[in-house]
Amino acid sequence: MTSQPAQHVASDEQLLRYSRQIFLPEIDVEGQNRLLNSSVVIFGMGGLGSPASIYLATSGVGELVLVDPDKVELSNLQRQIVHMNSALGQPKVDSAERTLKALNPDVCIRSRDQALPDDELDEVVRQSDVVVDGTDNFEARFAINAACVRIGKPLVSAAVVRMEGQVSVYRLDRSDAPCYGCLYRNIAEPPQNCAENGVLGSVAGLLGCIQATETIKVLLNFGEPLDGRLLLIDARTMEWQSVRLQKDPKCPVCGPPD
Ligand SMILES: [Zn+2]
Repeated sequence: MTSQPAQHVASDEQLLRYSRQIFLPEIDVEGQNRLLNSSVVIFGMGGLGSPASIYLATSGVGELVLVDPDKVELSNLQRQIVHMNSALGQPKVDSAERTLKALNPDVCIRSRDQALPDDELDEVVRQSDVVVDGTDNFEARFAINAACVRIGKPLVSAAVVRMEGQVSVYRLDRSDAPCYGCLYRNIAEPPQNCAENGVLGSVAGLLGCIQATETIKVLLNFGEPLDGRLLLIDARTMEWQSVRLQKDPKCPVCGPPD
């Protein structure tokens, strides 16, 4: 990981703090040190970004970059668990920073309380090791995917509505690997959003937790992340299925230039 010049080595206190995951052979002290030197950008501090940021912070990811232009509203609190009632009306990134620092003072937080133009988006993505997309609109999702394709960074993307969710990892490290744009190019209907359709808070939490798990797997390169697979979850039936994603050779984002 190259984001931070000074390599951080876990202190005795940190070895104790993270001991339950350091026991895992997939992580160990070496993996913990790598987490402490990693940087993850999270777009959207809502129903997905809240649990994702909480678990990434408590796991000891060294730096979290939070991007969200919104302020905390009363209707957010049912699922956006990084925000306390006392943060109503405050910028979400400030509210999230307070909670995350209270949970784990180790974590370094940088934040942007506005939607980013493409050049700044690229810069934020370039400085991170993994990109987590927890935004709730198509336009932001496409812009984040395009930046990840341009810069060549792994994207952990999820969406949730009602009691259904989907999550995948997009990494263009193989020539046949799809991007988020490949998935939606041929789908006529854009994804639905929570404001119009409702969402169960715990289901958003489930998807955000999967994003945090996939991010740690990608950072430490273990297991089988959801590369090229879309995990579909229906919480009403608790049916989980993963479907293979195909690269679209004509994808305007990741396909060859005309
Ligand atoms: Zn594509």
